Amino acid sequence: MGMTDTASRPATDDVTAEVTAWLEENWDPELTVGEWWEKLGTAGWAAPTWSKEWYGHDMSREEGNRVSKAIRDFGALGAPGGLGLLLAGPTIAVHGTDEQKQRYLRDIVTGQKAWCQLFSEPGAGSDLAGLQCKAMKDGDEWIINGQKVWTSGGHYADLGMLLARTDPDVPKHQGISYFAFEMHQPGVEVRPLREMTGRALFNEVFMTDARVHDDACIAGQGNGWKVANTTLMFERAGLGAGGGEAAGGTASPGTVAGDLDKRAGDFVARREGGGGGGAAGLLGGASQLLVEMAKQSGQIKDPMIRQALMRLHTRNEIARFTNLRLKAGADLPGVGNIAKLTMSQILRETRDLGLRIVGPAGTLHAYNSEDRKVLDEATGNPLLGMITEMALFSPGPSIYGGTDEVQHNIIGERVLGLPKEPNNDRVMAFKDLPKNT
Ligand SMILES: Cc1cc2nc3c(=O)[nH]c(=O)nc-3n(C[C@H](O)[C@H](O)[C@H](O)COP(=O)(O)OP(=O)(O)OC[C@H]3O[C@@H](n4cnc5c(N)ncnc54)[C@H](O)[C@@H]3O)c2cc1C
Repeated sequence: MGMTDTASRPATDDVTAEVTAWLEENWDPELTVGEWWEKLGTAGWAAPTWSKEWYGHDMSREEGNRVSKAIRDFGALGAPGGLGLLLAGPTIAVHGTDEQKQRYLRDIVTGQKAWCQLFSEPGAGSDLAGLQCKAMKDGDEWIINGQKVWTSGGHYADLGMLLARTDPDVPKHQGISYFAFEMHQPGVEVRPLREMTGRALFNEVFMTDARVHDDACIAGQGNGWKVANTTLMFERAGLGAGGGEAAGGTASPGTVAGDLDKRAGDFVARREGGGGGGAAGLLGGASQLLVEMAKQSGQIKDPMIRQALMRLHTRNEIARFTNLRLKAGADLPGVGNIAKLTMSQILRETRDLGLRIVGPAGTLHAYNSEDRKVLDEATGNPLLGMITEMALFSPGPSIYGGTDEVQHNIIGERVLGLPKEPNNDRVMAFKDLPKNT
């Protein structure tokens, strides 16, 4: 994906000016979400870091962030969020044929189709290459049988990034293929899994004799591991940067969520109303929020609280400096893994400090907006819900996109050159390896 030399681009103020001028011409809160995203996406402002040829502006990541900020500051609805823009699109842009880019990228930038990630299985999470979902060739199609789990947004998705085993007779990393898989077809059953936040963010997905055409195989049969690693690289980089929160949009892409026909302006108003956002959205301003809360409760005078606030601030600053070094062109091996580890650490510290500041009220959580109102009134603290929401969600980021332990392994083996754990994975046929059950 085109990350260009910033020096060859107009100054960032010009980027802001350019997108703002475009917004002045084009933003209309009366448009439907679908109509607005059509304009935004085809003008290259939904995915400005993508190449000009494929719905982007060849911008650097920093410039892309400026575009999101400009859209937010303008008060327009931001780009469609979700895994299409964050993961599937960039992956297809790297590995897809032109025909596949044509078929999938437009619907991603215009929010017409929502995507989910069909990677993890009950016996294959950290050991993702041990996946057992089967794809059997049948003419020009593949027949899919197997189960996926923890599929975020599976219930809203039109398409899935599916990893399936197309050849059990070769070593495990070589027998995997990556498909763009239609979710709305016979033989696909999506069952929600409720989390302790009260929401059902993710799902189990069962595939029984489901089908996918061979022309939806990205990078060809047996090359899925390479493609999956590209997706995971984008996932870690996006998460480390607090990704998935493209511009200011709270509308959901895709045909199932039902937002495409709604008035675009209503989603901007809703965003300004606060709440929503979730833990990832909160992280950016979280340390400032905690300072404000500590000031209001008088705990800012407590030296232990002050010290914890400073530690959090320092971590955030180190993360910011790392980003600046990257922008300045530094080659930092393992930076995606480090960014992900840093983000989950900051989230845990924010949770612990937030709960210390709110005290016993932190044991109270409202699971819907009605109860939230009652709780806000009873405690007099409208920020309490954000803290408890973050506390309940906080284990998530150190698990998804590869657990913290797995990030440490990758840094150890691929960056520091430490020896790998001995195994036969790379030489023995997958069918002969011991399996997780
Ligand atoms: C909020 C959330 C959203 C998710 N969304 C998706 C999604 O959309 N699509 C998808 O495919 N998956 C998704 N996942 C699943 C996620 O990718 C897996 O949970 C993750 O890869 C870990 O796999 P596992 O749960 O099977 O745990 P396991 O792999 O069984 O790990 C269990 C524990 O053992 C440790 N461990 C395992 N192997 C090693 C090792 N070699 N060295 C050291 N420690 C090790 C792990 O760190 C962990 O602590 C999501 C998870 C969460 C929490």
